Amino acid sequence: MSAMLAETRPDEATAVVETHRPARKRVVIIGGGFAGIAAAHALRHADAEVFLIDRRNHHLFQPLLYQVATAVLSPAEIAAPIRQLEARQRNVTVVLADVTGVDVASRTIEASAPGVGVRKIAFDYLVVATGMRPSYFGHDEFARHAPGLKNLNDAETIRGKILGAFELAATTDDEAERARQMTFVLVGAGPSGVELAASLAQMVKITLRGNFHRIDPAKSTIILLDASKRVLPTFAESLSRRVTKHLTKLGVKVMTGLKVETVDEQGVVAGGNRIPSATVLWTAGVAASPVPKMLGSKTDRAGRALVDPFLKVVDAPGVFVVGDAASLMQNGHPVPGVAQAAIQEGRYVGRLIAKELKGRKVRRPFSYFDKGNMAVVGKNYAVLERGWLRTGGFLTWLVWAFVHILSLPQLQNRLRVQHQWFWSYFTGQRSSRLIPEPPGT
Ligand SMILES: Cc1cc2nc3c(=O)[nH]c(=O)nc-3n(C[C@H](O)[C@H](O)[C@H](O)COP(=O)(O)OP(=O)(O)OC[C@H]3O[C@@H](n4cnc5c(N)ncnc54)[C@H](O)[C@@H]3O)c2cc1C
Repeated sequence: MSAMLAETRPDEATAVVETHRPARKRVVIIGGGFAGIAAAHALRHADAEVFLIDRRNHHLFQPLLYQVATAVLSPAEIAAPIRQLEARQRNVTVVLADVTGVDVASRTIEASAPGVGVRKIAFDYLVVATGMRPSYFGHDEFARHAPGLKNLNDAETIRGKILGAFELAATTDDEAERARQMTFVLVGAGPSGVELAASLAQMVKITLRGNFHRIDPAKSTIILLDASKRVLPTFAESLSRRVTKHLTKLGVKVMTGLKVETVDEQGVVAGGNRIPSATVLWTAGVAASPVPKMLGSKTDRAGRALVDPFLKVVDAPGVFVVGDAASLMQNGHPVPGVAQAAIQEGRYVGRLIAKELKGRKVRRPFSYFDKGNMAVVGKNYAVLERGWLRTGGFLTWLVWAFVHILSLPQLQNRLRVQHQWFWSYFTGQRSSRLIPEPPGT
């Protein structure tokens, strides 16, 4: 057990414990997502003590969250315990805590854990890899009625809302209320919105077919709304058009160029028109976690830390920001907030620190290698953009499935997801159709 953990007594609920500086240099990584795990892994041979701190105990494969929200997969199939790293890597200590403060001057962070209190942890190097959270563009009140999709709780909440809406629709005798329950509005037509809308469309048509005598789930209305002019605004226009056509074929109503003005318990108001809906889902904006701001250096409008070409924070020696939390321009374009960029940045910084620890200087700045962007639109259809290549269809969907299976953390998850996908592909059934019980029942 490290000195830091041994010093902390469980009854010190609000104690702030100063840690001794270890004999070896200490690298503190905040965040066990794609970037943080990659950084820790790259430090596996380094002569350093690596602290990996996350407020949740699992690494989450966010690209498949929409499948948990639409009952294809269950939460455990897309997550893996971060703690496993301690078994695989001798120089890593995993700490379950929420980082609530960073003091660059004294080179310490504050980490808070329920029942333990707040601890101060000293660092020689700091890697911030805290990712993003949903942003309601200054309308935080929307969050009450329109959950975002960022973690497993969100996915389970959305799944419960969708399945619960059909139960209520089947129970009520009020026609207008039934229509409201069977109207689903997704705000934000980026990859997450598109993937969720398409999966929902197939669920109402195929999975729920024949499950209700009083209602026909296939008659549900699924609306995909966005203020921008087209779906998938970060993809080429030709791919947007193809995706819109495909979504329409699946029964999704695509409404672009419309700004959402209100979200309340009755639904949404967009472009001056009210759309009654019991299920509004937020797949629009994202903002950085508050941690980059705690560094006291410059951030962009979304709260991401502005970093130099080596992913270092200017005027804060030994402090790096990687993954979605970092804002970096390369060849006139921002490095995108995708898993590949996060992995490459985390790995780069881990290697850079390992070299510095050996007394070597790294002269080559970070360079993002773009492996391409993909979005899946239901069964059998995906689009891919890579450099000049723009393609879509069944083969692209097969590539998407293959890449995602391979990228999942843990062999057991790869096998389980593969199994669920085969089952779902050939039967149309989804094995995770659970509505969580309200707390206290
Ligand atoms: C629904 C959805 C779908 C996506 N689909 C794709 C896709 O298909 N392809 C793709 O390439 N990318 C996709 N992305 C984006 C991709 O998931 C992110 O780019 C990637 O996760 C960024 O990695 P990261 O390590 O920077 O952050 P994350 O993976 O978000 O990890 C951040 C970690 O930091 C922890 N943390 C945050 N704050 C604190 C704190 N204060 N204290 C302690 N711990 C903290 C969090 O618990 C989390 O574990 C998707 C994202 C979402 C939300």
